[in-house]
Amino acid sequence: MKIEEVQSTTKKQRIATHTHIKGLGLEANGKALPLAAGFVGQAAAREAGGLIVDMIRQKKMAGRALLLAGPPGTGKTALALGICQELGSKVPFCPMVGSEVYSSEVKKTEVLMEHFRRAIGLRIKENKEVTELSPEETESVTGGYGKSISHVIIGLKTVKGTKQLKLDPTIYDALIKEKVAVGDVIYIEANSGAVKRVGRSDAFATEFDLEAEEYVPLPKGEVHKKKEIVQDVTLHDLDAANARPQGGQDILSLMGQMMKPRKTEITDKLRQEINKVVNRYIDEGVAELVPGVLFIDEVHMLDMECFSYLNRALESSLSPIVIFATNRGICNVRGTDMTSPHGIPVDLLDRLVIIRTETYGPAEMIQILAIRAQVEELLIDEESLAFLGELGQEASLRHAVQLLSPASVVAKMNGRDSICKADLEEVNSLYIDAKSSARLLQQQQDRYIS
Ligand code: ATP
Repeated sequence: MKIEEVQSTTKKQRIATHTHIKGLGLEANGKALPLAAGFVGQAAAREAGGLIVDMIRQKKMAGRALLLAGPPGTGKTALALGICQELGSKVPFCPMVGSEVYSSEVKKTEVLMEHFRRAIGLRIKENKEVTELSPEETESVTGGYGKSISHVIIGLKTVKGTKQLKLDPTIYDALIKEKVAVGDVIYIEANSGAVKRVGRSDAFATEFDLEAEEYVPLPKGEVHKKKEIVQDVTLHDLDAANARPQGGQDILSLMGQMMKPRKTEITDKLRQEINKVVNRYIDEGVAELVPGVLFIDEVHMLDMECFSYLNRALESSLSPIVIFATNRGICNVRGTDMTSPHGIPVDLLDRLVIIRTETYGPAEMIQILAIRAQVEELLIDEESLAFLGELGQEASLRHAVQLLSPASVVAKMNGRDSICKADLEEVNSLYIDAKSSARLLQQQQDRYIS
């Protein structure tokens, strides 16, 4: 049995709660619509965000960063994501929390560097050798084969007519996995005449992991067609792909390596090499840089070492848009005995544009909760929604949002499709919010180990 590398999903989950946010929801004149692109209220902050988007487009944010300051649960992550989406659909968004830099295995600056590179995208336009293959003998494709048959013949439609192509059983398996049906056009991606990937569409869903000599040679000449393929990757994807053994020289093989596990360390030297290749491809017009958004929540958790790293990194030509967020006022700068606004040293503060986010009123909170219920495909009546809004006002918006799923489970257990007030009361008594938890801890201090 093979043990596969486990891909972390925490980043995806962090964004998943904001799937309803599709942008900033601004009019052409920059005014915030009361409810648009999934965004409710927070008009001033959204309008300020819109201006930042304009500044980024005009390249006026170089060397600077954005700070979102406001109480917990006021949509700072949502705002950062909205800004990112306004910049374009394929712009990378990389969220992290300040405390993530503290690990016993990895240096703080290394963690920051990795996140920086996750937030820088590269759009690669390649002319690949693509052969359109139409299965003439479709039965042999959909029919299966005996173990003794080492090669499968399927028809290959070329510009000049039909040819027979000998395919390795592995490729044949893949075609079957792709559910090739009569009349489908199959795309084969070849590199110097060797089959590399096969798919039913040019997305090349199935990738081959064959040794070079195992590749089945395609007939040379007219069967190959050049096709422009656009791929979006991040610098971190390229780093990670090449930290693995058997890396190739060209950007094609850099990408081909991406899905294979076996991770080794990403060194500075490797990053420099990647930068060199990337710069060359940019100069040659093959690739285009897509600076994304690095969102660092709870920035006050960073320490002096991180801040000086950030100061330098913001100056770099390969820098994403950095958006910090904090709910702290004047506090200690970690790793020093200084205090400073938001716990950020003044030299970095100097570089920041600050946007404030405000607490939501009941009506806005109810609207946000209604959107979340819709996104999560949960049914809830007006009265219960209003009650959930009240709970949100007492505790926090996040707490109220988090009650939705368990309440729907309770509703189902009671044989209902729609969430009612009693379900919310039940789950609210089961799960306490952070504020109540802190209050209880304080009241019962003597019962806990301090
Ligand atoms: P913060 O970073 O300020 O703590 P957040 O952006 O992480 O806030 P929460 O405040 O936890 O988000 O918000 C809970 C949920 O409400 C999330 O799903 C978030 O996307 C959504 N949300 C917050 N503000 C808005 C808004 N103005 N419009 C629509 N949805 C919002």
